[in-house]
Amino acid sequence: MVVRRLRAGATRLLQHAKAGTPGSMTSKRTKGQRLKASALERARAVASVDPRRDPPPAGAVLADHAALAHNNTYDLLPKFYVDRAIVCRQCGTAEVWPADRQKWWYEVAKGNINTHAVLCRSCRESRKSQKTEARRIHLEGVAKKRRKHVS
Ligand SMILES: [Zn+2]
Repeated sequence: MVVRRLRAGATRLLQHAKAGTPGSMTSKRTKGQRLKASALERARAVASVDPRRDPPPAGAVLADHAALAHNNTYDLLPKFYVDRAIVCRQCGTAEVWPADRQKWWYEVAKGNINTHAVLCRSCRESRKSQKTEARRIHLEGVAKKRRKHVS
């Protein structure tokens, strides 16, 4: 009995280690971390659901096929979106790509239906701000050149 319980505990720790949740060894996890972990668990539980064929599970966000018409594809389009667990390609953090963010990506930003998030939110945001900064510097340089030409 004791051995069994220990094993179960070890398996749980391993799962946490795989999930990349820092601080899971201690019980001092913040509410935010606990919520994140349970969202990941929920997302993993529906990982095998096929949104093109299966009925929508609880929490699914329905897809609007008119908004997906930019996908010039004969493949079936998803009927809905569900939270997906992703592992960031840059930092390795396991994170949920929420169904409503997916809907935004595919239907509003017109992302291709075969693309999906590869970066966690914080890596995405730091990339975005790097790009914005690079653009600002570039535009500044262009403006300086223009001023030189004028004078
Ligand atoms: Zn990341």
